[in-house]
Amino acid sequence: MESQTDHCPHCRANRTLICTQSVRKETDQTGKKVRIRTLSFHCEVCGGFVRSEDRVEIDKKIGF
Ligand SMILES: [Zn+2]
Repeated sequence: MESQTDHCPHCRANRTLICTQSVRKETDQTGKKVRIRTLSFHCEVCGGFVRSEDRVEIDKKIGF
């Protein structure tokens, strides 16, 4: 994965971010299988948390 840079609130400067990704499967309230992909970005210098993104994807392997 390519590195990104963003403003680190801890360093108060632009820093390279380290991205970690985790995927978990859940069932929503209507019984649909969904996949939640969470990207977490941490500052390379201080290790502090900068931001995260949740992406909800319908699990196509389950099918409808
Ligand atoms: Zn930092």
